[in-house]
Amino acid sequence: MSSLILLYTLLFLLVALALILAEKLWYSNHSWHLSHSKLLTCRKCGNVFQLPRQAVDRRCPLCGGGTQPFQMPYSGIHETLKQRARHEKE
Ligand SMILES: [Zn+2]
Repeated sequence: MSSLILLYTLLFLLVALALILAEKLWYSNHSWHLSHSKLLTCRKCGNVFQLPRQAVDRRCPLCGGGTQPFQMPYSGIHETLKQRARHEKE
């Protein structure tokens, strides 16, 4: 009788472990997103490219120039919207 309980407990633990593993695998396969630090811009030619995982060489693949982390180009849209909102309040 006690061995039956042990068997059920082990079975339950195994199933739980399998579910956790399956979920982890699913997330690692599906929750892909652009990593901020891996998206680089070339200082020389402006080429924007994604650095492959575990790549050490951070130089531009086109011209070999130095790179910096990608930043969204500044646009005046936000300022314009802020100003417009301010004017509507007054
Ligand atoms: Zn370049």
